[in-house]
Amino acid sequence: MTLRLYNSLTRSLDAFLPESPPDVRVYGCGPTIYGPAHIGNFRTFIAYDLLHRYLAWKGWSPRFVLNFTDVDDKTIEGARAAGAQLNDHTAPFGEAFLEDCRTLGIRDFHEIPRATDHVEAMVEWIRRLEEKGLAYRAEDGSVYYRIAAFDDYGALSGNRADGSEGRSRIDADEYEKDDVRDFVLWKAARDADRQVGAVWDSPWGEGRPGWHLECSVLSIGALGDTLDLHIGGEDLLFPHHENEIAQSEGATGTTFARFWLHTKHLRVEGQKMSKSLGNTYTISDLLDRGHSPAAVRHLLISAQYRKELNFTFDGLDGSATAVKRLVALHRRLHEETPTAPDAPDAGLPEIAREALAGFEAGLDDDLNVSEALAALFGLVSKTNAALDAAGGPVAEAGLAAVREALASMDEVFGLLQVALAESEEDDDLAAWVEERIEARKAARAEKNWAEADRIRDEIAAKGIVLEDTAQGTRWSRG
Ligand code: AMP
Ligand code: ZN
Repeated sequence: MTLRLYNSLTRSLDAFLPESPPDVRVYGCGPTIYGPAHIGNFRTFIAYDLLHRYLAWKGWSPRFVLNFTDVDDKTIEGARAAGAQLNDHTAPFGEAFLEDCRTLGIRDFHEIPRATDHVEAMVEWIRRLEEKGLAYRAEDGSVYYRIAAFDDYGALSGNRADGSEGRSRIDADEYEKDDVRDFVLWKAARDADRQVGAVWDSPWGEGRPGWHLECSVLSIGALGDTLDLHIGGEDLLFPHHENEIAQSEGATGTTFARFWLHTKHLRVEGQKMSKSLGNTYTISDLLDRGHSPAAVRHLLISAQYRKELNFTFDGLDGSATAVKRLVALHRRLHEETPTAPDAPDAGLPEIAREALAGFEAGLDDDLNVSEALAALFGLVSKTNAALDAAGGPVAEAGLAAVREALASMDEVFGLLQVALAESEEDDDLAAWVEERIEARKAARAEKNWAEADRIRDEIAAKGIVLEDTAQGTRWSRG
């Protein structure tokens, strides 16, 4: 069956085929690592993950590249405020992002280039644009892109240049520009940049690359001149992606990205996310409140990437229940249901086939995840009903059909993967705590109070609270 995706470039639902199958060259705009990513960012990154996993499920070999924006106004300002050098300031946020990705079961990216590791290539790129008459140097040593010289400007966003604003100089910050629409490729160094080590040499003097340029150079550097697919949040369509096209196609003379996908911004309790509303939750905020990674993943994945998604704590509880149903069925199929050679298959192979067909039809339709999730949870209900009706042993072939369908769908949803990893970690932790409690008991029996206290601290460091009662020591998560 054919995967169809809404291509922002053609503004239509187009059949997707990579240019050179089985390879699929995909690039997504990544996080600006100036602070911890919030659940809005992760709505977008989980949409990337669903796309990544589904391309693989369809039998292709996606190479998904994501960038780290580790130099821009926000990262520089953050480093300056913290009195740190730029890289020292951004590195921990990059690590935290990767940790959150692991927690949420986001599949590893093929590569995650950091902008600051590729400045030389960016300088080279600007020289190419200069040679083609697409870039000019301003008096202060900054270099701008000359939009009027690129005929196709506006193909993605519809913001076509008519030149009427040309030569006006209204932006106080960028008074050096020939045309207000022109954007910066190279920013001449300021003292604040020097202070945090955010300066590089170039033929135009010391400075740093512009944000738009990062994505053109990093994506093409990793994947080649033409990407099969470029994805990002809806806020990036203009001017960021329009400018990426101008820089890339201006230099290479060939199509930059065949498909453009844009994810809709997450709302929280019906409102736009904003610092002032205090609703920019991070993944750690949710885990600290006792929510499970699998429930967070379920909620953030639950609406199609172009549809409105409203994050609520009630919704998160609903997601936790949904995940529990999946785990319960997994147990029922793997551990609880007896089989016998002559037992009936309870119609399970047919139920599994139907569910898989619904799943694929849903995702083929522009990654319509609601439809695909309906197929998954339909499988859960129908299988449970069939097992209840059978009331005893079921043929192995019946159970296997559902197990395989469930595992296949979970290659894309990743919900069982995350939930089972969590419960395995829980089991490991429980075994460790029990063992430590026994060791502490032994130390106390020997009146080795120092050792007993040491063990208590060791347990406490994992967030476990001990309570000594007449019946023995009880433990709980703090
Ligand atoms: P940033 O770290 O600000 O560069 O953003 C990283 C990615 O998250 C970009 O693709 C943004 O479009 C996306 N993003 C930012 N805010 C939200 C939101 N509220 N909902 C969904 N995606 C978002
Ligand atoms: Zn980008």
